[in-house]
Amino acid sequence: MEFNLKLGCHFGILEKWFVNCRIFKKHILKQFKKYINMGSGYLIIAGAIMLFSWLVSSRLKSKFELYSKLQLRNGMSGAEIAEKMLADNGIRDVRVISTPGQLTDHYNPSDKTVNLSEAVYNHRNAAAAAVAAHECGHAVQHSIGYEWLTMRSKLVPIVSVASNYVQWILLAGILMIRTFPQLLLIGIIIFAATTLFTIITLPVEYDASNRALAWLENKHMLTQEEQAGAKDALKWAARTYVVAAIGSIATLLYYISIYSGNRRN
Ligand SMILES: [Zn+2]
Repeated sequence: MEFNLKLGCHFGILEKWFVNCRIFKKHILKQFKKYINMGSGYLIIAGAIMLFSWLVSSRLKSKFELYSKLQLRNGMSGAEIAEKMLADNGIRDVRVISTPGQLTDHYNPSDKTVNLSEAVYNHRNAAAAAVAAHECGHAVQHSIGYEWLTMRSKLVPIVSVASNYVQWILLAGILMIRTFPQLLLIGIIIFAATTLFTIITLPVEYDASNRALAWLENKHMLTQEEQAGAKDALKWAARTYVVAAIGSIATLLYYISIYSGNRRN
């Protein structure tokens, strides 16, 4: 009797263990499937964004190559155009300097310099004119305290620190979603700041291009053909920022969906 009881007891444990094992297997499988789904969702988003941004940036490159061949009738270099646009806007404390590399053109508000890549600085074509005037557009924004630029500048230090760590925080957050879901939430909040930055960049970039094109037109700097080329080149440059913003929003929504999906379960 005692033996049977013991046996029964052992069978009971064994049965329990099998049931547990089944539940455990089901749980593992469910988790595994979820990770696969998460991964494929991310791959689809990332793949689409990469393809889209590759299409836009290769189009931009071919546009710039095309308009680099369009020599300016006024014979001015990018640097000379930049100097004139700054002077016409009454800006005397901004320097125009040459910076090494390709597509490295930018306006630096901290030392008030319009940095033009060597090709833009020295060359005398429609693409160089467009870029030089666009960067001066940022200098004009800075001088009049254009609010979107001010807001963007305030976000720069936060975003530059955040972008170094945010991917690791998000990755750790996904791995620890069951035990410490708050980590993913922290990652999402930091990532949202970088998304906000890409959105605020849009009005700043479009406005700088609009100022550039308006000045080039009002001062009759370019011929009609050159003006159309400059407009087209800047249009494609702006689209790269649109793609970056869409990509950032899609990625943010993806992380939010993982977080809220986990909370529902
Ligand atoms: Zn710009």
